[in-house]
Amino acid sequence: MANILLPTENLLYKQNNSYTLLDAPEIDDIIAHINEEHLDELLGFLSAFTSISTAELNHVDAKITAIYAEGIALQTYPKHLERLLASQDNNLRDQAFFITFAAPITHPDDLQTQYILLKQRADKKLGKKTIKLTKQVFEVQNSYNVSKNMLRLELSIPSLNNAQLNDDVQLRNTKGALSSTSVPINEAGYAYLFDLEHNATTKALMTDSIDDNKADGNAVNDSEKNNVRPTRPHCYYTLRKAWHTDDGIRAWVDVFLHGDTPGGNWAQSLQAGDTIVTKREFPEKVEHLRDGQAVLIVDETSMPTAARLLELWNNPKPPLIICITQDIADQSYFDEVKIHSRVSSSDRLEGADSTKGMRNRVHDAVTVLHITANQTTLGQDLATVIDDKLSDYVSRHAIQIDKVWGALEASTVKAVRDKLRARFYLSRADVIVKAYWRHTA
Ligand SMILES: Cc1cc2nc3c(=O)[nH]c(=O)nc-3n(C[C@H](O)[C@H](O)[C@H](O)COP(=O)(O)OP(=O)(O)OC[C@H]3O[C@@H](n4cnc5c(N)ncnc54)[C@H](O)[C@@H]3O)c2cc1C
Repeated sequence: MANILLPTENLLYKQNNSYTLLDAPEIDDIIAHINEEHLDELLGFLSAFTSISTAELNHVDAKITAIYAEGIALQTYPKHLERLLASQDNNLRDQAFFITFAAPITHPDDLQTQYILLKQRADKKLGKKTIKLTKQVFEVQNSYNVSKNMLRLELSIPSLNNAQLNDDVQLRNTKGALSSTSVPINEAGYAYLFDLEHNATTKALMTDSIDDNKADGNAVNDSEKNNVRPTRPHCYYTLRKAWHTDDGIRAWVDVFLHGDTPGGNWAQSLQAGDTIVTKREFPEKVEHLRDGQAVLIVDETSMPTAARLLELWNNPKPPLIICITQDIADQSYFDEVKIHSRVSSSDRLEGADSTKGMRNRVHDAVTVLHITANQTTLGQDLATVIDDKLSDYVSRHAIQIDKVWGALEASTVKAVRDKLRARFYLSRADVIVKAYWRHTA
């Protein structure tokens, strides 16, 4: 999901025909980001809201050309391999569309909201799972390391009553905000946007009440209290796994600790009994992995998604995994993960369990190719290492890669996507590689 935030002072409107053009320095970056990372959403908008046929959509890509207060202007253009045909086929020529927001943008933050509403409407029309803007409250039960730098948060949601456990029950809290009691038990990669400020505020309030009770003049001053506030308000983490218990739902969230950062500090500061709050949640795109030879390309931030994918694996062929970590010690993360095996005997590696539905340790059933990389090995360099490793394995074992899922650092993502699509002749829909984090110097 695009992170669309505009500072108020930069937002200017330019009248253009009947629509009001949003004109701010950030708009170009936002458009570039959406065009680069959210092409599938744009095609979804065209499919849901325009008369363009599915046959036509299969041959075109789309891009945003401008954002107006009232909606977005989209243009289709022939997909790379079909550009040559375009001159002979009128259907493949560039076409312009305007997709209207539910309500015109009057405030900069509205752009993000209106984009999400468009996505929700489009997904609903197309029968797809979608992003939710609901609040979820978890209680921390425990936290412990599952590999050298991976901290597991064990969370619970108390049940209101058993009937609600299986339903997507939404409640309004006293301030009217929607909150949800549903947690997906059988989904890999389901992500939550955690509200880091919630815990900072709770801690600051507790500090205040302690100060009020202090008579010895050692009260914490305001600047110390401000230091408690995280420098980022929220952070995405994946639901590693969730399951029902007698008294509600238990869940794991695995947070990779990579030094003194807001997300890591937040996770490490949590104590049993603390509440944590999420503001947004959305499903991962993994449906394409149901058949064919898949490869999963993960780093520490996406290992939790891969682990859950393996536990729920529903494809007769086991995937190949490329696992990139900065510290070799974190590669033990998969040691205790078991793959749900529907693997057919011809595809099974030696030693793997033959019974349908059995669970095998990942290292017995799946090939994991390890790469250790440091923060300077990102972007094209890391993409080349991944491509070389995969090509070498594929040529030595004479296999064909049909599907790719991965999530990595943003600059590596585009390079990997392009390389793998070209090398294995894969379609856009078969190569889903997401940006889970962004390197800043
Ligand atoms: C859908 C989704 C699901 C995700 N699920 C998980 C998950 O389950 N577990 C998890 O640990 N992360 C997950 N992430 C990634 C996580 O949100 C980012 O790594 C986030 O940047 C961490 O925030 P931070 O406050 O620790 O660091 P930031 O404030 O973002 O960055 C501080 C510094 O740390 C560096 N940095 C940031 N992330 C990393 C990293 N991963 N490795 C090395 N250096 C880094 C940056 O370059 C920067 O210099 C997910 C992201 C998305 C989008």
